[in-house]
Amino acid sequence: MNDEHAFSTRAIHAGQEFDPTTGAVVPPIYMTSTFVQDGIGGFRGGYEYARGGNPTRDSLQALLASLEGGAHAYSFASGLAAEDTLLRAALAPGDHIMMGNDVYGGTHRLVNRVHVPWGVTLSTVDMSDVDAVRATIRPGTTKVLWVETPSNPLMKISDIAALAGIAHEHDVLVVVDNTFASPYLQQPLSLGADVVMHSTTKYIGGHSDVLGGALVLNDDALAEKVGFLQFAVGAVSSPMDAWLTVRGIKTLAVRAERHSSNALAIASALVGHPQLDAVYYPGLDTHPGHDIAAKQMRAFGGMLSVAVSAGAAAARTFAESTTLFQLAESLGGVESLVCYPSMMTHASVRGTELEVPENVVRLSVGIEDVDDLLADVLQALERF
Ligand SMILES: *Cc1c(COP(=O)(O)O)cnc(C)c1O
Repeated sequence: MNDEHAFSTRAIHAGQEFDPTTGAVVPPIYMTSTFVQDGIGGFRGGYEYARGGNPTRDSLQALLASLEGGAHAYSFASGLAAEDTLLRAALAPGDHIMMGNDVYGGTHRLVNRVHVPWGVTLSTVDMSDVDAVRATIRPGTTKVLWVETPSNPLMKISDIAALAGIAHEHDVLVVVDNTFASPYLQQPLSLGADVVMHSTTKYIGGHSDVLGGALVLNDDALAEKVGFLQFAVGAVSSPMDAWLTVRGIKTLAVRAERHSSNALAIASALVGHPQLDAVYYPGLDTHPGHDIAAKQMRAFGGMLSVAVSAGAAAARTFAESTTLFQLAESLGGVESLVCYPSMMTHASVRGTELEVPENVVRLSVGIEDVDDLLADVLQALERF
């Protein structure tokens, strides 16, 4: 595959050569757990056993590497499986990791309740405050800086290039969770990050029908460790999941454009609404991270949140009153979803400094007709 091609072309063709046996335009799903050997150790195409490698997973991994502009990509059964594998590769007992104080709740839970008990130390910090990040680094001990931008659910923006500059002064590995942006909107490796992580469950899969995770990176030595752990620990994506994810990626560019234009239109229409204290969307020029977002993102994505003036009960009523926006966790699918973070996605961080205000409602804006979506939000804001 010619990597000089633009994103939309690579999204359809990278790693997707037609089947040489039949000419099938869409590469088949290799639903097999093992591979016949031509004599002991005589592997065809290097394939031996599917935890170690499967052609369908390889085709997804080649595609992901191409889209993020990385040399190596690994796909996993979930976003958290990808995170766990990377953290095992990058951290040892005694090491220190820094994360945003508004990081995805499941990421915080993984580190705080699985890796910290094994001897890793964790600090959470406001990643949009570069000085605070600099002050929290423990030279020689801090090994990983975990950045999520835009963040969830308050859509804070962190400056990837600035953070990478500071971290690299101290040999700290910079990991960007690029789930909210997708590789179409933001390319962290080109901004200086060392590793990109995705929950491919969200925009990359894009149709709310498959769970998955990915890591993309350039460093050969770290990639070898990640590849070994993917094989040794075994949280790989299944052939069916890998195939569905490839199928979703083919339309990522057009979906991301429509998610972004729909969300911008809805956010703009909600600014100043009498029932709302705030609209959190990086595409609004009043958003504190707008200039950085405009610099590091191609468009501003499909996620936005609002703070309901009348408080928690009204916010819950709002979240339960939309009809097109379906009440569910997750995000990034073609269908619009609404979520009440403090009791849904962020229930695990209630009572910690990552707690989400109880009047916040999050919208994952889908690619339906924008006027229908806006009418749905407006009618729900009249229910209390
Ligand atoms: C969903 C999500 C994850 C976790 O991914 P899973 O596929 O659910 O394991 C990590 N980071 C972000 C930002 C997410 O939205």
